[in-house]
Amino acid sequence: MKRKKRIATVSLAGCFGCHMSLLDMDEHILELMELAEFDRSPLTDFKTFSRRCDIGVIEGGCCNEENVHTLQEFRKHCDVLVAVGQCAIMGGLPVMRNAIMHSEDPLRECLEEAYSSSAKVYNPSNQIPNDAALPLLLDKVYTCAEVVKIDYQIPGCPPTGEVLWATLAALIKGEPAPQEYHMIKYD
Ligand code: SF4
Repeated sequence: MKRKKRIATVSLAGCFGCHMSLLDMDEHILELMELAEFDRSPLTDFKTFSRRCDIGVIEGGCCNEENVHTLQEFRKHCDVLVAVGQCAIMGGLPVMRNAIMHSEDPLRECLEEAYSSSAKVYNPSNQIPNDAALPLLLDKVYTCAEVVKIDYQIPGCPPTGEVLWATLAALIKGEPAPQEYHMIKYD
Protein backbone atom coordinates (compact mmCIF):
# COMPACT_ATOMS: atom_id res chain seq x y z
CA MET A 1 0.00 0.00 0.00
CA LYS A 2 1.26 3.48 -0.86
CA ARG A 3 2.53 5.44 2.14
CA LYS A 4 0.36 8.36 3.07
CA LYS A 5 2.10 11.72 2.91
CA ARG A 6 2.61 13.48 6.22
CA ILE A 7 1.60 17.11 6.68
CA ALA A 8 2.45 19.45 9.57
CA THR A 9 0.87 22.88 10.00
CA VAL A 10 1.46 25.83 12.31
CA SER A 11 0.23 29.35 13.00
CA LEU A 12 3.06 31.77 13.85
CA ALA A 13 2.11 35.48 13.90
CA GLY A 14 -1.18 34.63 12.23
CA CYS A 15 -4.85 34.86 13.15
CA PHE A 16 -5.80 31.21 12.45
CA GLY A 17 -7.84 32.46 9.48
CA CYS A 18 -5.65 30.49 7.09
CA HIS A 19 -6.30 27.33 9.13
CA MET A 20 -10.03 28.11 8.99
CA SER A 21 -9.64 28.28 5.22
CA LEU A 22 -7.93 24.91 5.28
CA LEU A 23 -11.07 23.49 6.90
CA ASP A 24 -13.11 25.40 4.32
CA MET A 25 -12.06 22.90 1.66
CA ASP A 26 -15.21 21.13 2.90
CA GLU A 27 -15.64 17.59 1.57
CA HIS A 28 -12.14 17.62 0.06
CA ILE A 29 -10.87 17.24 3.62
CA LEU A 30 -12.04 13.61 3.38
CA GLU A 31 -10.04 13.15 0.16
CA LEU A 32 -7.07 14.81 1.84
CA MET A 33 -7.31 12.34 4.72
CA GLU A 34 -7.14 9.51 2.15
CA LEU A 35 -3.91 10.90 0.73
CA ALA A 36 -2.21 12.26 3.83
CA GLU A 37 -2.12 12.29 7.61
CA PHE A 38 -1.43 15.20 9.93
CA ASP A 39 1.57 15.38 12.24
CA ARG A 40 2.26 18.43 14.44
CA SER A 41 -0.59 20.87 13.85
CA PRO A 42 -3.26 22.89 15.72
CA LEU A 43 -5.61 20.28 14.21
CA THR A 44 -3.93 17.44 16.14
CA ASP A 45 -2.59 16.96 19.65
CA PHE A 46 1.05 16.44 18.62
CA LYS A 47 3.16 18.96 20.53
CA THR A 48 6.34 18.09 18.62
CA PHE A 49 7.18 16.34 15.36
CA SER A 50 6.65 12.61 15.68
CA ARG A 51 8.64 11.93 12.47
CA ARG A 52 9.83 13.61 9.29
CA CYS A 53 7.07 15.26 7.27
CA ASP A 54 6.62 15.68 3.54
CA ILE A 55 4.87 19.05 3.68
CA GLY A 56 4.91 21.87 6.23
CA VAL A 57 2.16 24.47 5.98
CA ILE A 58 3.08 27.82 7.58
CA GLU A 59 0.55 30.51 8.52
CA GLY A 60 1.81 33.84 9.85
CA GLY A 61 5.15 35.62 9.77
CA CYS A 62 7.63 35.93 12.66
CA CYS A 63 7.02 38.55 15.35
CA ASN A 64 8.76 36.89 18.31
CA GLU A 65 11.68 34.58 19.02
CA GLU A 66 9.42 31.57 19.55
CA ASN A 67 8.03 32.05 16.01
CA VAL A 68 11.59 31.95 14.64
CA HIS A 69 12.45 28.81 16.60
CA THR A 70 9.24 27.08 15.48
CA LEU A 71 9.78 28.02 11.83
CA GLN A 72 13.34 26.69 11.94
CA GLU A 73 12.01 23.43 13.44
CA PHE A 74 9.53 23.16 10.54
CA ARG A 75 12.35 23.74 8.02
CA LYS A 76 14.41 21.04 9.72
CA HIS A 77 11.61 18.45 9.78
CA CYS A 78 9.72 19.06 6.51
CA ASP A 79 10.82 18.30 2.95
CA VAL A 80 8.70 21.09 1.47
CA LEU A 81 7.58 24.29 3.21
CA VAL A 82 4.49 26.14 1.96
CA ALA A 83 3.94 29.73 3.16
CA VAL A 84 0.17 30.17 3.29
CA GLY A 85 -1.43 33.62 3.37
CA GLN A 86 -0.19 37.21 3.27
CA CYS A 87 1.17 37.14 6.84
CA ALA A 88 3.56 34.30 6.05
CA ILE A 89 4.50 35.73 2.65
CA MET A 90 4.93 39.45 3.36
CA GLY A 91 4.09 39.92 7.04
CA GLY A 92 0.41 40.76 6.43
CA LEU A 93 -1.36 43.31 8.61
CA PRO A 94 0.95 42.70 11.62
CA VAL A 95 3.81 44.09 9.52
CA MET A 96 2.23 47.53 9.91
CA ARG A 97 4.08 47.73 13.20
CA ASN A 98 7.30 47.98 11.14
CA ALA A 99 6.02 51.28 9.80
CA ILE A 100 6.27 53.25 13.05
CA MET A 101 9.09 55.16 11.44
CA HIS A 102 8.65 58.40 13.37
CA SER A 103 10.23 56.76 16.38
CA GLU A 104 13.92 55.97 16.80
CA ASP A 105 12.89 53.08 19.02
CA PRO A 106 9.77 51.66 17.31
CA LEU A 107 9.50 48.43 19.34
CA ARG A 108 9.60 50.34 22.63
CA GLU A 109 6.96 52.76 21.35
CA CYS A 110 4.79 49.82 20.35
CA LEU A 111 5.13 48.16 23.79
CA GLU A 112 4.46 51.42 25.65
CA GLU A 113 1.33 52.00 23.60
CA ALA A 114 0.14 48.45 24.34
CA TYR A 115 1.02 48.34 28.06
CA SER A 116 1.17 51.84 29.51
CA SER A 117 0.50 54.98 27.49
CA SER A 118 -2.72 54.07 25.70
CA ALA A 119 -5.89 55.63 27.21
CA LYS A 120 -7.54 52.19 27.33
CA VAL A 121 -4.77 50.52 29.37
CA TYR A 122 -5.06 50.00 33.16
CA ASN A 123 -1.59 49.08 34.40
CA PRO A 124 -0.75 50.73 37.76
CA SER A 125 2.76 49.21 37.86
CA ASN A 126 3.54 50.63 34.42
CA GLN A 127 5.69 47.55 33.85
CA ILE A 128 6.03 46.00 30.40
CA PRO A 129 5.65 42.18 30.83
CA ASN A 130 9.10 40.73 31.29
CA ASP A 131 8.75 37.13 32.51
CA ALA A 132 11.35 34.68 31.22
CA ALA A 133 8.51 32.39 30.05
CA LEU A 134 7.34 35.01 27.56
CA PRO A 135 8.93 34.98 24.10
CA LEU A 136 10.71 38.23 23.33
CA LEU A 137 9.27 40.35 20.54
CA LEU A 138 11.57 40.84 17.55
CA ASP A 139 12.63 44.32 16.51
CA LYS A 140 10.15 44.03 13.62
CA VAL A 141 7.88 41.48 11.94
CA TYR A 142 9.78 39.24 9.51
CA THR A 143 8.40 37.28 6.57
CA CYS A 144 8.97 33.52 6.63
CA ALA A 145 11.33 33.74 3.65
CA GLU A 146 13.56 36.15 5.60
CA VAL A 147 14.08 33.42 8.21
CA VAL A 148 14.20 30.12 6.28
CA LYS A 149 13.98 28.90 2.69
CA ILE A 150 10.35 28.71 1.54
CA ASP A 151 9.43 26.40 -1.36
CA TYR A 152 5.90 27.54 -2.26
CA GLN A 153 3.70 30.53 -1.53
CA ILE A 154 -0.11 30.63 -1.61
CA PRO A 155 -1.23 34.28 -1.39
CA GLY A 156 -4.53 35.55 0.03
CA CYS A 157 -5.86 36.78 3.37
CA PRO A 158 -6.82 34.05 3.60
CA PRO A 159 -6.30 31.91 0.48
CA THR A 160 -9.49 30.04 -0.45
CA GLY A 161 -10.13 26.46 0.57
CA GLU A 162 -10.19 25.72 -3.16
CA VAL A 163 -6.62 26.82 -3.82
CA LEU A 164 -5.36 25.20 -0.60
CA TRP A 165 -6.89 21.88 -1.59
CA ALA A 166 -5.66 22.12 -5.20
CA THR A 167 -2.12 22.98 -4.09
CA LEU A 168 -1.85 20.32 -1.39
CA ALA A 169 -3.36 17.66 -3.67
CA ALA A 170 -0.86 18.55 -6.42
CA LEU A 171 2.14 18.52 -4.07
CA ILE A 172 1.05 15.20 -2.57
CA LYS A 173 0.85 13.68 -6.06
CA GLY A 174 4.20 15.21 -7.06
CA GLU A 175 2.57 17.50 -9.63
CA PRO A 176 3.23 21.25 -10.15
CA ALA A 177 1.19 23.56 -7.91
CA PRO A 178 -1.79 25.04 -9.83
CA GLN A 179 -1.50 28.63 -11.00
CA GLU A 180 -4.94 29.35 -12.46
CA TYR A 181 -5.56 33.08 -12.44
CA HIS A 182 -9.03 32.81 -10.87
CA MET A 183 -7.59 30.97 -7.85
CA ILE A 184 -5.03 33.62 -6.93
CA LYS A 185 -5.97 36.57 -4.74
CA TYR A 186 -4.13 38.84 -2.34
CA ASP A 187 -6.94 40.07 -0.09
S1 SF4 B 1 -3.09 35.89 5.96
FE1 SF4 B 1 -4.99 36.78 6.76
S2 SF4 B 1 -6.21 35.01 7.35
FE2 SF4 B 1 -4.08 34.29 7.15
S3 SF4 B 1 -3.21 34.49 9.19
FE3 SF4 B 1 -2.77 36.41 8.12
S4 SF4 B 1 -4.48 37.78 8.70
FE4 SF4 B 1 -5.11 35.69 9.18
